[in-house]
Amino acid sequence: MIKARARAVDGPDQPFREAEIKRRDLDSRDVLIDIKYSGICHSDIHTAHGEWGPVNYPLVPGHEIAGIVTDVGAEVTKYKAGDRVGVGCMVDSCGDCENCRNGEEQYCLKGNIPTYAGVDKYGEPTQGGYSSHIVVTEDFVVRIPDAIELDVAAPLLCAGITTYSPLNHWGAGPGKKVAVVGMGGLGHMAVQIAHAMGAEVTVLSQSLNKKEDGLQFGAASYYATSEPETFEQLAGSFDLILNTVSANIDINAYFGLLKLDGTLVNVGAPGEPLSVNVMSLIGHRRSFAGSMIGGIRETQEMLEFCAQHNIVPKIEVITADEIDSAYKRVLSSDVKYRFVIDISTM
Ligand code: NAP
Ligand code: ZN
Repeated sequence: MIKARARAVDGPDQPFREAEIKRRDLDSRDVLIDIKYSGICHSDIHTAHGEWGPVNYPLVPGHEIAGIVTDVGAEVTKYKAGDRVGVGCMVDSCGDCENCRNGEEQYCLKGNIPTYAGVDKYGEPTQGGYSSHIVVTEDFVVRIPDAIELDVAAPLLCAGITTYSPLNHWGAGPGKKVAVVGMGGLGHMAVQIAHAMGAEVTVLSQSLNKKEDGLQFGAASYYATSEPETFEQLAGSFDLILNTVSANIDINAYFGLLKLDGTLVNVGAPGEPLSVNVMSLIGHRRSFAGSMIGGIRETQEMLEFCAQHNIVPKIEVITADEIDSAYKRVLSSDVKYRFVIDISTM
C-alpha cells in the first residue's frame, strides 16, 4: 500500500481535516501520480454535503487532478515517470459495453467508476484528488500538453470537458448563437470554448458584476437574469443554451429564449428536481437535454484544443487549509472562476 496525505470530510456539515489514505500498490497497468494541483468543482460540494444522496464518509473529493507520473506498472505503455498528466471525474469503466467501446466511458452501461465516492474493481472506496498521490489505470489518465501549466490544467479535467463535450456534440460553431447560463467554473470555460469554436456567445448571469470578464472571455453580449426585460429582449434568440447553474432555476423562462429547434442542455446538477412546463418546449419544437463530462478520448482532444487556442481557466490558487472557506465562497457565487488547491501545502 502507498500512503498519501489528504484532506477528508466526515459528514455533510463537517469541516475538512488532515487525513492519511492508502492507495493500492501498482497493478500491471497502473500509473502512480504525484498530484500537484486539484481543482474545486461544485460537484465536490454537492457530494460532500450529501445533496446527491447518501455518501460513505470519510470522503476525499477532487476530480480535477494535475500532476506528474512517478511510477508505472510493468505493462504500462502510454506513460513513464516524469510525464505531465491529468485525471478527471472517472478512474475506470467496464471497457466492454457499447458506450465504452465508442469512447463514451462516462456513459458505461455498467456505470463508470467515479474518482471519488465510488467503489473500484478491487472493492475499495475511491478517494479523490485532495491528496498527494493517486493510482489510476493508464486508460483513464490523459496527457497535459506542454503549453498548459499544471495549475490551470487541473480545472480542464472537469469544467473544461463538461462544457467542451456538449458544445461539440450540439455543434457550437460559426453561425450558431450560444448562451451560457451562470458564469462560474463551468460557465467561464464554456464561454471561452464556444467562442473559440466560432459561435456567437451570450452570457446570462445573475448580475452584470462580471460583465467585463465575460467579454474578455469572448462573449459578444452579457445580460443580467435578475432583470425581467432580459427575457423579453432575448426571446427566441439562441440555437443552444448551456445551463451551468448549480441551483434550481425557473428553467421554463430559459426555454423561451430558444429558437425553433433550439436545445437547452443542462450540465448544472442541483440536488432538487427542476419543474418543466412542456408547453414551452412544444411551442417551438425545442429540446431539453443533459450531458455528463466527456469520454477519455474527447478529454484528450479538449486539452489539445485548449492548448491550440490558448484557453485556460482563470484560477485562484489556495492552500489545503483554505478548502472550507473556498466552499463558502463558491456557494455564494464568489469565485473567479475556479479554486485550485496547491497540493504542496498539504
Ligand atoms: P460554480 O462555479 O458554483 O458556478 C455556478 C454558477 O451558477 C455561479 O457562478 C452563478 O453564476 C450561477 N448560480 C449559482 N447559484 C445560482 C442561483 N441560485 N440562481 C442563478 N444562478 C446561480 O459551479 P460549477 O463548478 O461551475 O458547477 C456548476 C454545476 O454543474 C454544479 O451543479 C455541478 O455539480 C455541475 N457539474 C455537472 C457536471 C456534468 O458532468 N454534468 C460536471 C461538473 C459539474 P453567476 O454568478 O454568473 O450568476
Ligand atoms: Zn466536476
